[in-house]
Amino acid sequence: MTYVIAQPCVDIKDRACVTECPVDCIYEGARTLYINPAECVDCHACEPVCPVEAIFHEDDLPRHWAHYLAVNAEYFDEAASPSRARRDAVGDHPAVEALPPQSGPHKKEISFFTVRKEEAADADLWFPS
Ligand code: SF4
Ligand code: SF4
Repeated sequence: MTYVIAQPCVDIKDRACVTECPVDCIYEGARTLYINPAECVDCHACEPVCPVEAIFHEDDLPRHWAHYLAVNAEYFDEAASPSRARRDAVGDHPAVEALPPQSGPHKKEISFFTVRKEEAADADLWFPS
């Protein structure tokens, strides 16, 4: 079992969770943070301190962010992320890299849309009706 960082962290990265983690299993990417599921001890310490409610137990992930279980795991997977340097604050999982900018005054509201809706909205910018 592990906790998972989902989409609301993207472009926030205030690192409040990092100081709470007793085993230092939360790692920083370029746009978001990731929990290493092989190191997480399922202690719950990080979840309540997140100001944007980005952290979930894997069993409690909202369905529209269910893929973040794999996003967090694959970030530490050498097969998916061949360069070890990639996980040392220089890169992100491809699913995060593909997201449009998340910061701004409506960040929290935006974070509650599904990825599909964000993709649709993003497409509207390119193909206005
Ligand atoms: S649940 Fe505990 S061990 Fe897992 S990432 Fe959060 S603080 Fe770290
Ligand atoms: S506390 Fe939440 S927003 Fe801040 S770095 Fe951790 S997961 Fe991201």
